[in-house]
Amino acid sequence: MIEDINKNKIIENELDDICEECKKKDNSVTENLILTGYKLCKSCRISKTLFPI
Ligand SMILES: [Zn+2]
Repeated sequence: MIEDINKNKIIENELDDICEECKKKDNSVTENLILTGYKLCKSCRISKTLFPI
């Protein structure tokens, strides 16, 4: 059961809605993390899509 608690903590940290690119908090960050695997807000996701590195 301890393992489950740790797992939930990690998920909680991942789902803090903070964009890794601009460090802004946005509801779209979690959405993009689930959909694309990138922890980015809507605007950063667009710039990444337009200018992939
Ligand atoms: Zn961003």
